[in-house]
Amino acid sequence: MENDSISRLADMIKNAGRVVAFTGAGISTESGIPDFRSPGGIWTKYKPVTYQEFLASNKAREDYWARYTEFFPPFETVKPNAGHLALAELEQQGRLIGIITQNIDRLHQAAGNADENVIELHGRVDITICLSCGLDRPTRDVILGLTSDQPVPQCSCGGWLKPATISFGQELPQEALEQAVQLAANCDLFLAIGSSLTVHPAASLPGLAVERGASLVIVNVTPTPYDHIAQLVVNKPTGQTLSDVIRRLASS
Ligand SMILES: [Zn+2]
Repeated sequence: MENDSISRLADMIKNAGRVVAFTGAGISTESGIPDFRSPGGIWTKYKPVTYQEFLASNKAREDYWARYTEFFPPFETVKPNAGHLALAELEQQGRLIGIITQNIDRLHQAAGNADENVIELHGRVDITICLSCGLDRPTRDVILGLTSDQPVPQCSCGGWLKPATISFGQELPQEALEQAVQLAANCDLFLAIGSSLTVHPAASLPGLAVERGASLVIVNVTPTPYDHIAQLVVNKPTGQTLSDVIRRLASS
């Protein structure tokens, strides 16, 4: 039965012309990155600072940066896992035309996927941007520069600095969203990997892909609201599943 879903998925990938992967927290939890929205995740430990609060209040900016200082260090040392490496392999084989990700950890690029083929819907953790002039710099350097006298970083232009991750209440980056819609509408196989497919508007992409004639495969440890329109649902960890599929592709 389990081997059956691996060989079915391998066949679907082999027969598809344009494969798109959509990835969520589930692919990165196997690298040791917690799912921030899950029970025990940082957003259940603290009430999140919304984008509007960040803009409006110095106290909110102080809270935000204090938490980011706690949240950031694991991202410096984290490594891609078997799931990320499998998707990089699919791109090298010319089967995967793009990845749309809800993750901010840059692990797809670290695994070897070309930066221009990875659409980051929720931004990226490693870069911090000035909200006034748009200048960016490494988040690491900004955090190292924080002191008790200056707990909120400011740009030389006077603007507030904020990591390039999308906060609660902040709009998704328009260009990334448009690219994601293009990919979903123009693929013939949409692989939803490690996402509960509940965070909108990103979660509407599998439905769009199916509407435009693509097949949908869902690999996630728990059921999703789109399971009923998927050709194949694999409720198993993503790393093992995807590396098994790569092995099957190589031997067929
Ligand atoms: Zn600035």
